[in-house]
Amino acid sequence: MLEVSHVTKKYGKNLACNDVSFTLEPGSLTVLLGPNGAGKSTIIKSIIGFLKYQGKIMVNGYPNKSSEARRMVGYIPELPSLYPTLTVIEHMEFIARAYKMTNYKERIEMLLERFEMADKKKKFGDELSKGMQQKLNLCIGLLPNPDIILLDEPMLGLDPHAIKELKNYIEEMRQAGKTLFISTHIIDSVDMLWDRTIIMQNGQVKANVSRSEIEGQGKSLEDLFFEVTEGIDASSVRAAEGGSDEEKAETVKEGEAE
Ligand code: ADP
Repeated sequence: MLEVSHVTKKYGKNLACNDVSFTLEPGSLTVLLGPNGAGKSTIIKSIIGFLKYQGKIMVNGYPNKSSEARRMVGYIPELPSLYPTLTVIEHMEFIARAYKMTNYKERIEMLLERFEMADKKKKFGDELSKGMQQKLNLCIGLLPNPDIILLDEPMLGLDPHAIKELKNYIEEMRQAGKTLFISTHIIDSVDMLWDRTIIMQNGQVKANVSRSEIEGQGKSLEDLFFEVTEGIDASSVRAAEGGSDEEKAETVKEGEAE
């Protein structure tokens, strides 16, 4: 279990995260939603121990900056940071050795194959297009295969084919019992089987709800997002517009019954 307790992070006077608390249950897929600048990347970077902050973050009982916790958490950054003088395969082998992985060759092949990078093995980091750099970034992040994986805006810069493959891969990881935390500001990209959503705005958690709670209220994720971030009540908007198509159909059926 990953537990974020009262995390506050300031950049100078700018409060990027303001008393943020939540937990990620083992084997769950949580989507972190929020407009640009909401504090999503800041909280992810705090979890992986890149930033100094106030508050506490624990991973399965270990402080997040301990070596035990670091081994349990994987991170795929929003922007790739590649070495211009290493080739694709050298990047992968470098990470495998850094994580002291054994028998990693097969896993490297599998990942490069899946994300269509197998024929780019000998290309240097700075010879890759932006999309290819993003795919290599993904392959590097997925290589160590830890139990908890944090993905910061993972669809950005990927072509539709790679997005589809990534979504398939996310679903496989979910089925394999991984704990997944995926940040995005694009609600449409969340067309996968998520369990919980956390919505941030202005550095604060504005909602933390399970999928069944939202569905139980007859709302979509988009409804909830605008309700939370703009104070728009989707059901009253629908009522003012004369109801949703489903609601209209219900009304017709009721009329017919009379
Ligand atoms: P998000 O990932 O939701 O787009 P961020 O966590 O990147 O949001 O940013 C939250 C706030 O912190 C924003 O106001 C942003 O400008 C600010 N911020 C982020 N990184 C830095 C930084 N390195 N230095 C100063 N301000 C930053």
